[in-house]
Amino acid sequence: MSRLVMKFGGTSVADIDRIRNVARHVKREVDAGHEVAVVVSAMAGKTNELVGWCREASPLHDAREYDAVVASGEQVTAGLLAIVLQGMGVTARSWQGWQLPILTSNAHGSARILDINGDEIVKRFKDRQEVAVIAGFQGIHKDTGRLTTLGRGGSDTSAVAIAAAIRADRCDIYTDVDGVYTTDPRVVPKAHRLDKVAFEEMLELASLGAKVLQVRSVELGMVHKVKIFVRSSFEKPEDIDPHGNPPGTLICDEEDIVEQQVVTGIAFSKDEAQISIRNVQDKPGVAAAIFGPLAEANVNVDMIVQNVSADGKKTDLTFTVPAADYQRSMDVIDKAKSEIGFDRVDGATDVAKVSVIGIGMRSHAGVASQAFQALAERNINIRAITTSEIKFSVLIDAAYTELAVRTLHSLYGLDKA
Ligand code: ADP
Ligand code: ASP
Ligand code: MG
Repeated sequence: MSRLVMKFGGTSVADIDRIRNVARHVKREVDAGHEVAVVVSAMAGKTNELVGWCREASPLHDAREYDAVVASGEQVTAGLLAIVLQGMGVTARSWQGWQLPILTSNAHGSARILDINGDEIVKRFKDRQEVAVIAGFQGIHKDTGRLTTLGRGGSDTSAVAIAAAIRADRCDIYTDVDGVYTTDPRVVPKAHRLDKVAFEEMLELASLGAKVLQVRSVELGMVHKVKIFVRSSFEKPEDIDPHGNPPGTLICDEEDIVEQQVVTGIAFSKDEAQISIRNVQDKPGVAAAIFGPLAEANVNVDMIVQNVSADGKKTDLTFTVPAADYQRSMDVIDKAKSEIGFDRVDGATDVAKVSVIGIGMRSHAGVASQAFQALAERNINIRAITTSEIKFSVLIDAAYTELAVRTLHSLYGLDKA
């Protein structure tokens, strides 16, 4: 007997038929003798709709009330799945974040999980063989008791945190693809599924745009050593051999990967904006004058490039920020204009960041320069570059995203045979 967490994303619970399908997957594991906690997302599109309503109600709204609204999508699916399971003769009970409780920080809209009390659900595994159906994405602030949400894609994090709290043997993330691919299979049909991905690589893939897992879920998995397995909810429950090896991707320690490739995968993100400050004084303290106020405004600055300006006397500073923070960042820079001292600011939101990730890069030189050559041959201009031990990223015009991703995917031999 094992203890499992099974997480189902929005597409997997998009309507009652799909919820029935999910229930059959759950029943399959219960019938095999396992203790099961299920974590569900809201129905596909629901969270977007709720977020849209908040914006429509007021563009500048209270984050606590935003959470009260958007947490509701998961409440519905948790209840519905419990109803369907009960109808199939499986003992089941739904749980909202406040009922366990799942305690979080007070960063409304992107709260961090601090503690989960899993005692009651474990007790019920033992006493009644009861399946726990838990609403993902939500918790409550540890002091105020108000509802919080964990940021978009946060049900992954709920699932991994619950797996750690109840010491589950595995956390299965069921989604609309059958694993983690070398890049988004919707964009590159030649992408292939990876059997195993190291935590460090998955962390980079996720934070650089592969939304198959939320970044924090990978962080938690790494810290608490949770076995995360990404697999498809569209496989027919009846076709799965309970003793076989289903298709999917295991997120694991680096040491557990026997055949390490130099490049594991490619991620991309169009949620970037570029800001260039022209003709800045080239003197000590300027970078602090620019990036200090941005940090205070909670803007995450990513790529930074400094070069000599057109007149050769001053300097130009280019950097990227999340597209959602673009306008706010421009306002911050504008306010600090006299402090910084510059001629003008240019901005662009039609940019994309394409990133190449692989632990093998640690021990291989020249991986990035191959990419620069290949992109140049396609006439793709690189606006900025960043590198670290196991990844590098280039900033390009958004219109070339797909071409760049496909080019690099072939370059590093990732295309499916
Ligand atoms: P869920 O609703 O189940 O949480 P998401 O839409 O959040 O599912 O994540 C799954 C999607 O992630 C896939 O449909 C796929 O388009 C996208 N994706 C992006 N990069 C990758 C990748 N490298 N491997 C697999 N899927 C990826
Ligand atoms: N429903 C939430 C979202 O769409 C959480 C999730 O699906 O993981 O972001
Ligand atoms: Mg998701």
